[in-house]
Amino acid sequence: MADEKRPGKIVIISGFSGVGKGTVVKKLLQDFGHYVLSVSMTTRKPREGEKDGVNYYFVTNEKFENMIVEDGFLEHAGYADHYYGTPKDFVIRNTREGKNVILEIEVQGAMQIKEKYPDAVLIFITTPSAREMAKRLIGRKTETHDQILRRFKRAIEEAEHMKDYDFIVINDKIEDCAREVNRIVEKNEGGVRYDPQYKKEFISDLLEIIKKHTE
Ligand code: 5GP
Repeated sequence: MADEKRPGKIVIISGFSGVGKGTVVKKLLQDFGHYVLSVSMTTRKPREGEKDGVNYYFVTNEKFENMIVEDGFLEHAGYADHYYGTPKDFVIRNTREGKNVILEIEVQGAMQIKEKYPDAVLIFITTPSAREMAKRLIGRKTETHDQILRRFKRAIEEAEHMKDYDFIVINDKIEDCAREVNRIVEKNEGGVRYDPQYKKEFISDLLEIIKKHTE
């Protein structure tokens, strides 16, 4: 038994579109050695600069549906008219080897993982306010107006799930946020408490923003 490794953790990172989850994850991988990132499969088209096998495995609906039938996903979900899923083999292999595997996924998938793997660490990343989130999402200029609106609407549903996460971290500065996420994984402590008032304000501000953008 001497060479049997302690299994790594499944680390779920979720958060509203535009909060900078991707950048936080990149920083986490750069600054701390014991993480690997699960590359998801999706049916959405690559954005400019995205590479197949690096950002996602970009596949057809048919290929994705075959993977579902073959039980190849740890979890999968629909988001903004596309499928997204976590290939199972990579996560199982790496956690067995003692690595912490990061899954940057949306809430439906996170809830599936929580049920199947109760030891997974669920972290929700958010911004100081809905206005800040909207500013970041619009500012990155990777989505059309309609897509942005769809993501705002989805964020309202996601806000309702914040309470189901083990930890909530506010992404004000990337370095601090990555350090805080690492502290949570290592020590099982950190982040901020779930605050129903924050959620309420976030949703009402977002509804106002949506209204403004549909006028
Ligand atoms: P995006 O299109 O902006 O890359 O991703 C849209 C949403 O899908 C994000 O919230 C992202 O975290 C989530 N996502 C990415 N990969 C997966 C996955 O494998 N499974 C699930 N459930 N969500 C994913």
